[in-house]
Amino acid sequence: MLNLSVVLDSAARLHPDRAAVVCGEQVYSYAELNRRARQVAELVRARGVRPGDRVVLICPNLPEFPVVYYGLLKAGVVVVPLNPLLKERELEFVFGDSGAVMVFAWEGTEHLPVLENARRAAVAAGVREVVALSGLAELLAPRPGEADSEPTGAEDPAVIIYTSGTTGTPKGAALSHVSLLLNARMKDLLIPRHEHDVALVALPLYHIFGQTSVLNGNVHTGGTLVLLPRFEPGTALDLLVEHRVTLFAGVPSMFQAFLQADPKGVRLRKAAETIRLITSGGAPLPVAVFERVKELSGLQIQQGYGLSETSPTVTFCPWDEPLRPASVGKPVWGVDIQVVDRAGTRVPAGTVGEIVVRGHCVMLGYFNRPEATAEAIRDGWFHTGDLGRFDEDGWLYVVDRVKDLILRGGYNVYPAEVEQVLLHHPAVAMTAVVGQPHERLGQEVVAYVVPRIGHRIDVGELSAFARERLAEYKYPRHIIVQSELPLTATGKVHKRALS
Ligand code: AMP
Repeated sequence: MLNLSVVLDSAARLHPDRAAVVCGEQVYSYAELNRRARQVAELVRARGVRPGDRVVLICPNLPEFPVVYYGLLKAGVVVVPLNPLLKERELEFVFGDSGAVMVFAWEGTEHLPVLENARRAAVAAGVREVVALSGLAELLAPRPGEADSEPTGAEDPAVIIYTSGTTGTPKGAALSHVSLLLNARMKDLLIPRHEHDVALVALPLYHIFGQTSVLNGNVHTGGTLVLLPRFEPGTALDLLVEHRVTLFAGVPSMFQAFLQADPKGVRLRKAAETIRLITSGGAPLPVAVFERVKELSGLQIQQGYGLSETSPTVTFCPWDEPLRPASVGKPVWGVDIQVVDRAGTRVPAGTVGEIVVRGHCVMLGYFNRPEATAEAIRDGWFHTGDLGRFDEDGWLYVVDRVKDLILRGGYNVYPAEVEQVLLHHPAVAMTAVVGQPHERLGQEVVAYVVPRIGHRIDVGELSAFARERLAEYKYPRHIIVQSELPLTATGKVHKRALS
């Protein structure tokens, strides 16, 4: 028997008075967070929600997120965390697909009426009840009873993460209590974390990266979480300094935004005085960004790699070896990784193929989708849809997504490789390279670029810069300058919106 909420129980026992979450003026100690979570468990039990039922949580990084998340887990409920930016139609799909019986929703804003949308979607999908997070306190019994967490099985689903996976249709990756617990502890095997750590939570908690690596990982050790409801680089830099943050995890676009907001690295350098570990994952970290952050602050960003379907971390940089900035590190404990060709045969080091994963972190399957599950997990190996290669020493390099690969006139062009080159140009802050349909070649290479603040991009000169450094078939034939790139809510460049 195992329930992921044990991470909170143990922190509340060992460090009851330590600040668990800080959000603006609001502070909950571990004892307080645990008490509120138990009240939520009682509330859902009283409403007839049973262990194994699915309940949706739509909430940005606010203290209500961990309160409801752990409360639902304690009640043995399967949590379905969703991005508050989802539109009514998308909510209705997930409510129906997951068979949700109840929804906890944040109010939203004037331009983002989350609660209203959730209410309408709930009616259409036949959800029994929608609870407004703003009115949660009034619904909770004044003092929680002594009821313990439900004795869920270690392999029972704890969370369902909706992800587009490799095909584009959202599917729910069902993750078990044990997968999530082991994954949350993964970094501890490499770098011990403790109750004096302070983590800035800039990654959204409804996404698996923030949820496992930051929330569960730090609650487990009794560290303090400083919540940032909406990522804004200036505010994030201020919070790093103000709270003497020791752990920071982000996606590459956050580090790029730091460099734009703090080009001389004044605040980054200050933050570096307390930061012990700075991690990037979720998308390729450009080497130029790694180098710039190191040059300005002395901080070396450690990369990890993973997916929603793998709870998420499958590789991380070994702590005791010199970093290889282009690499995502080595497989973490208990996870096997292979690089295979189209026939599923393992390829030698240095050869690019699809990355496949096996181990305790792999999802139970896509919720209620046996066919999609069978396609993704073959012979016990989860197929990531990512292209990569190992070097001779076992470090993994993610080359690109299989689906982002550009086929230009019969040649493979990896957008990430072209992006790395463009980012070495001093005037380029961000870039996204995509394939666009071309009559003769099938696809043409197109680069969208964002200039660094105070710089102007000369398209002809940038094109020549790329051409000097890349094979004839790879360099971008069209360069489009924009003031920003479309980002997904998790901060990854939204390539489908460009191609
Ligand atoms: P998600 O399920 O939203 O976490 O997205 C997972 C995808 O993000 C993976 O399949 C990769 O394509 C990408 N990804 C995650 N970490 C990295 C990394 N360190 N480098 C390159 N791509 C990454």
